[in-house]
Amino acid sequence: MQVELSAVTYRYRDGTADEAEAIKDLDLIIESRSVHAIVGPTGCGKSTLLRVLAGIVEPQAGSVRFRGPQLRPNRTAMVFQDPTLIPWWSVGRNIGIGVEFSAKRRQLYRKIRTFSADRVGLKGMLDRMPSTLSAGQQTRAGMSRAFAHDADVLLLDEPFVHLDAITRRKLWSEFETAWQFDPRTYVFVTHDVEEAVLLSDRVTVLAGPPAWALETVEVPLARPRTRDTPTEPACRAAVASVWDALERASLG
Ligand code: ADP
Repeated sequence: MQVELSAVTYRYRDGTADEAEAIKDLDLIIESRSVHAIVGPTGCGKSTLLRVLAGIVEPQAGSVRFRGPQLRPNRTAMVFQDPTLIPWWSVGRNIGIGVEFSAKRRQLYRKIRTFSADRVGLKGMLDRMPSTLSAGQQTRAGMSRAFAHDADVLLLDEPFVHLDAITRRKLWSEFETAWQFDPRTYVFVTHDVEEAVLLSDRVTVLAGPPAWALETVEVPLARPRTRDTPTEPACRAAVASVWDALERASLG
């Protein structure tokens, strides 16, 4: 499903005369079945953009259009940086939450949650409680829950931020496998330029606040991305372009 934002403006209203303009006149196209990374200086409006895409907040001006057939019960699902698993539910039940609530088809729900867990290396852990998992396993469970979500567009807010470098790399490759198997539209926010380039088809650099799209860098790297991808000249060139745009964004 393609998402097109035209001249989107969003202001936080706190009931006083002060209004914080978080997004202004933002134009952006997120192609169907692509991975699109959003980077930008802290406070520039990245999380607000995800909230607009998720429909959690509604822009005061401009439009957000979803184009293409809706193939799943939900158009969007949001994955937060903290896996926020419900502590008194088993890992399996946590993973299936999106399916359980939206579809209520128990057999399908079981199949999807087992399958999603297998894909991110949680095989055999579905009956455990979240507190018995390591931080990396909890993040995997959060990702697995995202993959199990019945949504066409997945929105991820810094999904790998709390992980050590090695776990991060493993999850990048699991993300790649999951996307290959079930390509849908992914939008994710990150502060890590290498991560943005390695996982994505396009990287948009936001400037702000208020956020606007300073530049979108195309990432012409073949999939699957591998351990050798970072050394490819095209990868290095894309990383350099994103850094260059980020520097301009930080200059305001
Ligand atoms: P980022 O995710 O890029 O760090 P945010 O989207 O969280 O940025 O915030 C964008 C701008 O909106 C910032 O200037 C921030 O101070 C402001 N903002 C965020 N949340 C609120 C809120 N609930 N009320 C008022 N202003 C907010």
